[in-house]
Amino acid sequence: MAKRWISVPSRTKEILEKYDLRAKKGFGQNFLVDPVIVQRCADDAHCEGLVIEIGPGIGSLTEQLALRAKKVIAYEVDEDLIPILADTLQDYDNVEVILQDFLTADLKNLVPEWQKEYGMVTVCANLPYYITTPVLFKIFEEAPQIPYITVMVQKEVGERFAAAVGSPQYSALSVEGQYLYNVKRLFTVPGRSFNPSPNVDSVIIQFASRGAKHEEIDTEEFFTLVRACFKQRRKTVYNNLREYTGDGQRAEEILQKADIPASLRAQQLTVEQMIRIYEANQ
Ligand code: SAM
Repeated sequence: MAKRWISVPSRTKEILEKYDLRAKKGFGQNFLVDPVIVQRCADDAHCEGLVIEIGPGIGSLTEQLALRAKKVIAYEVDEDLIPILADTLQDYDNVEVILQDFLTADLKNLVPEWQKEYGMVTVCANLPYYITTPVLFKIFEEAPQIPYITVMVQKEVGERFAAAVGSPQYSALSVEGQYLYNVKRLFTVPGRSFNPSPNVDSVIIQFASRGAKHEEIDTEEFFTLVRACFKQRRKTVYNNLREYTGDGQRAEEILQKADIPASLRAQQLTVEQMIRIYEANQ
């Protein structure tokens, strides 16, 4: 008999009923009940070696990752889900579920070890929306060697990460993400693909590492500058820089050196122009 994937709506319903489980809003729980979406997401996630999943829920995406990867490490913060995952994923001996808040995971030390053992380490997750940005920035900062991060996020957040320069969604998030990665919007996931259905649509976006890092740039310092340039979107980059440096003349000099007209706003500046501002400020 063909296997009924965990993400088949009737199977998810059975699991929820068997364990008398209700999705916990506080943990951002929305379970995927759309096998086509789940499989497409796993297919696109570059599951050659070890895949890190954040929030396996009842295991719908985990199952598809396990079928494609050598190893899946899934961090789940809700202890009530641990026995359920042991049941739903019992056929997959390459899955390790860790009961831990992902934000406290020691990626700096673990990822290099996993790389040695499994070759490639990637991330694939349907992220809990209340911590989307902290999760992504943790990966950006602690494990920049990860080549692909494929995540489902709220549509609005996904659009900001993938936004083109000059578009209304282009923001500090766009510059920060695109400085480190090529950000691609893969596809939209309608609210009805989840149980319970959220009010908003989601998108799957993929961060593909740009490889060559600017060794001379301190990422944290660069991101602080980027946020300062976007601090007041309606103001010119000159005005925001003046506030950041506390010195109008200095702000003018930086922009001159970077060859950027003082009348522009941050949302009109490419990542490369932002880098020039950073370098001119050194
Ligand atoms: N992957 C499942 C799916 O697609 O059906 C569930 C996704 S649900 C949107 C988010 C999951 O992340 C939930 O299982 C939730 O308990 C878990 N979660 C929330 N906060 C977490 C954290 N700080 N660390 C690890 N997991 C977390």
